[in-house]
Amino acid sequence: MELTVLGCSGSFNAPPAGPCSGYLVRHGNTSIWMDCGNGTFAHLQEHVSAEDLTAVVITHEHPDHCADVYGLHVLMRYGLERKGFPIYGPEGIDAHLGQLVDGGWGDTFDWHIIDDSSKTRVGDIGLRFSRTDHPPPTYAVEATADGKRLVYTADTGPDWTVDAFGKGADLVLSEATYLADGSKPDYPHLTAAEAGIAAREAAAHRLVLTHLWPGLDRRMAVAEGSEAFGEAVILAAPHLTCRV
Ligand SMILES: [Zn+2]
Repeated sequence: MELTVLGCSGSFNAPPAGPCSGYLVRHGNTSIWMDCGNGTFAHLQEHVSAEDLTAVVITHEHPDHCADVYGLHVLMRYGLERKGFPIYGPEGIDAHLGQLVDGGWGDTFDWHIIDDSSKTRVGDIGLRFSRTDHPPPTYAVEATADGKRLVYTADTGPDWTVDAFGKGADLVLSEATYLADGSKPDYPHLTAAEAGIAAREAAAHRLVLTHLWPGLDRRMAVAEGSEAFGEAVILAAPHLTCRV
């Protein structure tokens, strides 16, 4: 399985992390666009054509995780004339996001509801979901292929951890919005150190930090995350590709 970062800015896009949350997960002929945050669609198409995309997963309704669904809709509907393209997301997200689409989504998308006990298979990749510590219904994603496990935290505070999927994930892609410098507001997100502690306690093999607040001292994020994790963490960057 292969993970490619399309964007990793937390909450709004800015250099150098580029677009907001978006990742491409591939195995065999299966290509899943996991979160379609603002700015990620262009980067996605540098790695896979929209014709070859298998499905989209939207972890929650915050725009930094789903705003590029509108561009996908235009291409799928008017460019490719595709019908029934699968999108997985929390209950009600189709109606919520559909308010900006004049006349609705038509039959372009086939919406699949995910919840805390959802488990499904998309092509060659198995998916499980877990409700995180973040106010709108938000679901972390576990992707499994060939016996390897990738866990993506989506957005979360420390009251949910990657341990929810069991120990020993091969790669954890964790949000790490803030540093331990007191700048973290009273809203459920993680610091790099909290991401590191959670991944260490869940015996994760590798940890990639993402959803970085623009302007964050990235070297400090690596230092704090690595110290908490117990070994060197990887900092997400647009187009970074990791084998899982
Ligand atoms: Zn976010």
